[in-house]
Amino acid sequence: MSDAAPPALGGEREAPTRSPPARSGADARIRALSLVGDRKIELVEIAAPAAPAAGEVQIAIKAIGLNHIDVWGWRGMAFAKRKLPLIVGVEAAGEIVAVGPSSAPAVTAASSEAFKVGDPVVAYGGLTCGTCKACREGRDNLCENVAGVMGFHVDGFARDRLNMPARLAVPVPAGVSFRDAACAPVAFSTVQHMLFDNAKLEPGETVLVQAGGSGIGTAAIKMAKAIGCTVITTVGDDEKAAKAKALGADHVINYRTERFESVVRKLTAKKGVDVAFEHVGPDTFNGSLLCLKRGGRLVTCGSTSGQSTTINLFQLYLQQYRIFGSFGASIRNIGESLAKMASGLTPVIDTEVALADFERGLARLESRKVFGKIIVNF
Ligand SMILES: [Zn+2]
Repeated sequence: MSDAAPPALGGEREAPTRSPPARSGADARIRALSLVGDRKIELVEIAAPAAPAAGEVQIAIKAIGLNHIDVWGWRGMAFAKRKLPLIVGVEAAGEIVAVGPSSAPAVTAASSEAFKVGDPVVAYGGLTCGTCKACREGRDNLCENVAGVMGFHVDGFARDRLNMPARLAVPVPAGVSFRDAACAPVAFSTVQHMLFDNAKLEPGETVLVQAGGSGIGTAAIKMAKAIGCTVITTVGDDEKAAKAKALGADHVINYRTERFESVVRKLTAKKGVDVAFEHVGPDTFNGSLLCLKRGGRLVTCGSTSGQSTTINLFQLYLQQYRIFGSFGASIRNIGESLAKMASGLTPVIDTEVALADFERGLARLESRKVFGKIIVNF
């Protein structure tokens, strides 16, 4: 969901009680980052969560990953149904600090084994119902009764502690840091879902990764290279080109100085690529289609350069293109992402900032100067 303009959802909620920062550090108060208006986030104190109920775990948040959905939320979106103030943060990693009764983990080798205090976890930020057909089939991001995306429609993860349904928590394997794990629920799992569930990328294929310096772009390059694909990527400056090359990209195109469509045709001997990884939108969408070979697949999870474009329908059916819209991921994809991290496929980190600098992180993400992920540490 990293770059997506999310759909409007009507998740109603009760705003937590807030007060100005307390004079003494009473345990009953915790810190939270609250979006109070367009481009206005405040560090506030809120009531600490109660003991977790049956089927819940309480998580102490350690790190948050920033995504374009945070930028969308921060700038304000007229069509997104939500109420301010809202606690921000759509993806995070933390540690279990309390366990309610009957709290089996959602994704683990031994699924009957309950979470225990001290376990590192990440959480799925879509408040799915867990019972509809899509949820039962593990297609969590197609839940028919989703109550909202945490940190965008309803209160998110940027707070010291929160209770979550244990079924939405995913164990972090040994050796994966909180910083890296914080990139699993949205950035990594979105890419995992796009490339492997939707585009069905196979070893040996050629993939075009648009905006290879972004959080999801860097993940896409590494995941595609890890299975032996040829990766062509686009970036906006020469410094990023060198970094993308160092990540393993076979060919890097500076889209500001070269027409990427022409370069891709040349690189593929006019055949085109098997898969185009899109999240830029109108600026590149038709160019990405033109880069596909006949029967090629385009998968998109976002549209940072605008909402609409026109496509050539003759070209679409004559070339037998397949286009996949992709938003978020399944809980399974988070486990798959964490397993990749444990085996050494770690996220590229651009910057780490402190909790109070959350907005500085968003501004950096918005400026497109990033190469990789921005992490907010608690
Ligand atoms: Zn559901």
